[in-house]
Amino acid sequence: MSKQYGPDYVRAIAPYQAGKPIAEVAREFGLDEASIVKLASNENPFGIPESSRAAMAAAAAELGRYPDANGFELKAALSKRYNVPADWITLGNGSNDILEIAAHAFVQAGQSVVYSQYSFAVYALATQGVGARAIVVPAKNYGHDLDAMAAVIEPDTRLVFIANPNNPTGTFIPAADIEAFLNKVPEHVIVVLDEAYNEYLAPEHQFESADWVRKYPNLMVSRTFSKAYGLAGLRVGFAIAQPHVTDLMNRIRQPFNVNSLAQAAAIAALNDQAFLEQGAKNNAAGYQQFVEAFTELGLEFVPSYGNFVLVRVGDDEQAGARVNLALLKQGVIVRPVGNYGLPNWLRVSIGLPAENAVFIAALKKALG
Ligand SMILES: *Cc1c(COP(=O)(O)O)cnc(C)c1O
Repeated sequence: MSKQYGPDYVRAIAPYQAGKPIAEVAREFGLDEASIVKLASNENPFGIPESSRAAMAAAAAELGRYPDANGFELKAALSKRYNVPADWITLGNGSNDILEIAAHAFVQAGQSVVYSQYSFAVYALATQGVGARAIVVPAKNYGHDLDAMAAVIEPDTRLVFIANPNNPTGTFIPAADIEAFLNKVPEHVIVVLDEAYNEYLAPEHQFESADWVRKYPNLMVSRTFSKAYGLAGLRVGFAIAQPHVTDLMNRIRQPFNVNSLAQAAAIAALNDQAFLEQGAKNNAAGYQQFVEAFTELGLEFVPSYGNFVLVRVGDDEQAGARVNLALLKQGVIVRPVGNYGLPNWLRVSIGLPAENAVFIAALKKALG
């Protein structure tokens, strides 16, 4: 037998399963790339904002130099937007990077991390990557059971991950429940509140999470430019936390973890209110389109607060895989979620009205 390299906890990791790229599906199924509809990775159907494209073109001339390691201008823009000092902000190569940095900064091998069943796959990866012990709390109505999560915290727990809204289920936790949870969590535990889909929330569900950061010294709020801001390919996200937390994050992160183009594009996107509004409006309309179609087809779905919907496509455990394959053959890419323990379900990102219509027609055909 060949030698087994690496620690047991690394060999135990199940690699992240990303949405299939368009080019790969075109090759595998002999389809024209232009005809393929991808609703698999919760990307922004409008793509990159024009304002970001222009900012990147201007920044390209300086690509021979290293990026600003401190992200001065982007942090200044975020500081103004969220009304927190710049040294409360950590930039990440996507918010995925923020989650990984948090695990490395706050958790030692053997200590425990708490997160919910059916929550974002990266929480498990970040936990396992540092040799920590995962305490996975059963979901309640496909969302976080915060009372149960507070109850399982142990003396060696160092981190809790919460996704709000949650991916892949789309569930949402109201502000009062989050605050009740924060009041219960012991101060030795860092809470990472991952708000990747915050910008899609209706105004009545939005809350100033930065205000909580002022109040709770153990809270970190994580945000991304990958979803509502349309910059998934550039990889940029950020965290807001008090300086004693941010200081540790800074020791772990790579000095140049956010590249120059990403920094320039993010500043432009942050100031592009029209782009956000257009996206939110399209998302709300697309959600209704899905709700009507699923209702007509008699399919159960989880009410969603993000830019995607989890829909149950059959009673047998092969349903997700089978319907997914039938959709791929028709050039529609969605996300099977068997790896999340949801083999009967598919997660479908909300696209442009015409893309949603193509998916709905293909789904009808796939279901026979
Ligand atoms: C998409 C997503 C992220 C992060 O995406 P990045 O592109 O790494 O910023 C983080 N959390 C959740 C819950 C997500 O769905």
